[in-house]
Amino acid sequence: MKHIIVSLIILICSTSLFPQFGSQDSGGPLTPEWAAYDVKFYNINLNINPDKQTINGWVGVTVEAVSNMKEFVLDLDDKYRITKIIWDSPTESKEISFKHENGKIKIQLPEEVAIGQSFTVKIYYNGKPGIAKNPPWDDGFTWGKTKNGDHWVGVTCQGGGADTWWPCKDHPSDEPDSVLLNWSVPLNLICVSNGKLRYVLDNKEGTKTFCWFVSTPINNYGVSINIAPYDTLQYKYTSITGEEIPVTIWVLPENIEKAREHCSEFLDHLKWYEELLGPYPFRLDKYGVAESPYLGMEHQTIIANGYGYRDDQFGFDWLHHHELGHEWWGNMVTAKDWSDFWIHEAICGYMQTLYIEEKLSDRSPFAFMMNWKLWKNEQPVAPRKEMTSSDAYTNDMYSKGSYVLHTLRYYVGDDTFKMILRRWAYPDSEMEKVTDGSQCRFATTDEFLEIAEKVSDRELDWFWEVYFRQAKLPVLQAIIENGFLYLEWKIENNLPFSVPVEVKLEGEITKVEMREGAGSIKIPEGVEPVIDPDKWLTMSDVEFKNLNK
Ligand SMILES: [Zn+2]
Repeated sequence: MKHIIVSLIILICSTSLFPQFGSQDSGGPLTPEWAAYDVKFYNINLNINPDKQTINGWVGVTVEAVSNMKEFVLDLDDKYRITKIIWDSPTESKEISFKHENGKIKIQLPEEVAIGQSFTVKIYYNGKPGIAKNPPWDDGFTWGKTKNGDHWVGVTCQGGGADTWWPCKDHPSDEPDSVLLNWSVPLNLICVSNGKLRYVLDNKEGTKTFCWFVSTPINNYGVSINIAPYDTLQYKYTSITGEEIPVTIWVLPENIEKAREHCSEFLDHLKWYEELLGPYPFRLDKYGVAESPYLGMEHQTIIANGYGYRDDQFGFDWLHHHELGHEWWGNMVTAKDWSDFWIHEAICGYMQTLYIEEKLSDRSPFAFMMNWKLWKNEQPVAPRKEMTSSDAYTNDMYSKGSYVLHTLRYYVGDDTFKMILRRWAYPDSEMEKVTDGSQCRFATTDEFLEIAEKVSDRELDWFWEVYFRQAKLPVLQAIIENGFLYLEWKIENNLPFSVPVEVKLEGEITKVEMREGAGSIKIPEGVEPVIDPDKWLTMSDVEFKNLNK
């Protein structure tokens, strides 16, 4: 039975958890047009019409020129019709010319903008957004219905980027300092979004506008909406900093009792993360969870949760635990390029293993990790090139990356590993106190190496090179000869590698040092050695030879 369950999970993982994103894509090499400016502020004002499945409105984009600019290029899918673009300066407001083709809006600026100068344009547009066929792995709107027949709407765009529904710079390396969100929806519905709710306006025309404000940087795919006739569960949560964080769970009315019984677990998850990684990063805004018509997504301060208020076979709400982890790994600490995507997914994935190990002692964290072991070893966990999100999103980046962290933990030791995690999240303890947005940063695989070396006081570049930059797994050769077990690492391109290997002999585990990639241990006669008995090592199957036989 257990085998069937595990096989089933693997099947589910392989068919639905790791498909490539659709034809829409995000990021890739940073073009000169993208590099020309730095986004400061998005002001998004959209009417969402669930009956017609359309959106219309305008988005203000404020940027600072990084080089002198005559033309300004933004991204928006061609399926939308742009009706006008307004140059919005303090002295004048006028329509300006543009071209919208191949997913790009090329805007002629009315005057050259010099380096360091800021400007704002407003893009007025409308259209029918794409429908996500397999959310959250597919981009677009989910126009769902509740049991009572009410509208229940969500949006996902991690793969294709936010330009699948609003004009933006579709590259992960640029986040606005803050965002204002005005969502207009039918009167009977509630629109839940990122940041803090400022006010709700009755438009006297059958719609209400929900005004939300995000006070920190946010990645584009993190901006989202959840529309339904939601009920709420509200909690007061005291952060490890002593600050009170409002926690709200938006629940479909028919599920409120089920949610009430289940959701206190969410606060346990929050506490666990804070103790491990430092404070919840968005204390000034809120922590929110919205019931979604798809499995889930890490939308900043408003996690989408469609897991049905239940625990999985490991005894906890895996989905919530994972998505909450992204508030640190992805939302506060963001990969500068999609090639560093493991910083979001591999680390966040390993959080569940640590949680099971600490909190659910009757369950197997190892079994949890093995559920995800579908590696192909065709592409490094962190390739050294600029990548689009769909190129970067592989199972290796995700679950092999998690396993590499397991090996790193074994190599540096538990306490050091936990301190590395904490400093990856917050590079120093002063940053743990900050809430003004400067707690958010872009990270790279190389920065994470630097921090890990500093915290552990060890050289780790060889570890990074083999595990993050090469696709092939280390191979361990084991030969028994003349009463000894000889071990040797075989590494692609003969790179240096010296992770020690544990060997179990007659019930006792010994760590064999692998200086210059090789080591040995005496074997009592007739004893079968067990290599890496606790499965710490990310490697291929051991190549084993017994020359004594
Ligand atoms: Zn994730």
